[in-house]
Amino acid sequence: MSFDSLGLSAEILRAVEEQGYREPTPIQQQAIPVVLSGRDLMACAQTGTGKTAGFTLPLLQLLTAKNEVPRGRRPVRALILTPTRELAAQVSENVREYSRHLNIRSMVVFGGVSINPQMMKLRGGVDVLVATPGRLLDLEHQNAVDLSQVEILVLDEADRMLDMGFIHDIRRVLAKLPAKRQNLLFSATFSDDIKGLASKLLRNPASVEVAKRNTPSELVDQKVHFVDKKRKRELLSQMIGQGQWQQVLVFTRTKHGANHLAEQLNKDGITASAIHGNKSQGARTRALDDFKNGKIRVLVATDIAARGLDIDHLPHVVNYELPNVPEDYVHRIGRTGRAECTGEAVSLVCIDEHKLLRDIERLLKLEIPRIALAGYDPDPTIKAEPIVNGRQGRGQGQGGRQNSGRGRAPSSQNGDRSDRKESSPWGNRGDSKPRNANSQKPRSDRADKPQRRATYSGARRSGSAAE
Ligand code: AMP
Repeated sequence: MSFDSLGLSAEILRAVEEQGYREPTPIQQQAIPVVLSGRDLMACAQTGTGKTAGFTLPLLQLLTAKNEVPRGRRPVRALILTPTRELAAQVSENVREYSRHLNIRSMVVFGGVSINPQMMKLRGGVDVLVATPGRLLDLEHQNAVDLSQVEILVLDEADRMLDMGFIHDIRRVLAKLPAKRQNLLFSATFSDDIKGLASKLLRNPASVEVAKRNTPSELVDQKVHFVDKKRKRELLSQMIGQGQWQQVLVFTRTKHGANHLAEQLNKDGITASAIHGNKSQGARTRALDDFKNGKIRVLVATDIAARGLDIDHLPHVVNYELPNVPEDYVHRIGRTGRAECTGEAVSLVCIDEHKLLRDIERLLKLEIPRIALAGYDPDPTIKAEPIVNGRQGRGQGQGGRQNSGRGRAPSSQNGDRSDRKESSPWGNRGDSKPRNANSQKPRSDRADKPQRRATYSGARRSGSAAE
């Protein structure tokens, strides 16, 4: 099938061609006709499948089909909500690329950066707005954005939004939208929570699914290397050096662990930066740019910071620590093997993590092949210690202690909160009472941070607490 047969305008097809896309991906083949027909859509597709173009291309087509020359301030006609700043930035970049030959204005708003330039730019009028929910609500509260004329709503990575406790914000945003609109919901999984949200949000939706639930890309070559925890860093450095890996995304469970590992790798002469929720947006963007441009070889990330990262031809993903939640493993390795490229995902597994590995393999219904570099056999005298909830005490960096300080495993809200600085008056938004007298403060400082997570049950939520 070619893009030409999908009914997209010449300007959009030109932009697609300039991207180098030869034919639509399966999600695009299925989603584009549905969106163009004006129907609501429930799409199950993971990042890396081409889902962004799957909703953006037809959305642009619908917005431009009327061929009206906009007069005065343009109202927001399409709203795309994403769970993280990085994903918002990427989606917005895609919207800009795909609309380059159209008379369409788009912009992105997310927290962690000053709200004023966003307010100024919104004043000029925007057709397509990409936003994280918290910052969008801040802007709406300050009358900087009018959502009453939204024709198309996209919830991107809806499952992750629920995991991150955004349901209250989503409800608040929905209340600001006109009742008559087209709704597109994209999610990597069809969990019961997602089905619940879909049943309230979507009207007679078409349903499309391109990847089996929790099936990692077959393009990813997965491996497990058993190794003692205290030797993980050494092994990682050796793998990077010996294999001459130039671009490696490494996952840790905690922000502290990410910082610590990046520091250690730099000491080993391997350029690395950490990316996680405690970093300023500027630092996150810089680290990501440096990684994409090849200025640094290793990006050490927590699960949420890496969610939705789109890095062309990323060849290597390393699970320096296994995630507490098996589904997060699927998301992590989904960073590689994207867009028809093959990739490799290596998990460094210490004795404490054997159960986590079993859970992952049970989910995948396969045994991940083992590899073993000479000289890194695990010490059989080391006993497994439980990975407990919460985080380890401050100053006890991972890798700095062997088989101790398990407290950092982030499977509880506490693990998240303690890393997040409790001082934010918005840290617990969704509670019936504000946490302190500062509650009138704009929420711009925590705009896309996870909030209360009490609403949705299940293991996925605990995984996201890692951030
Ligand atoms: P997404 O799932 O939207 O994050 O897209 C993943 C990657 O696939 C991005 O780098 C896109 O640029 C790329 N992509 C999207 N559509 C196509 C296509 N039809 N052919 C090749 N690559 C594509």
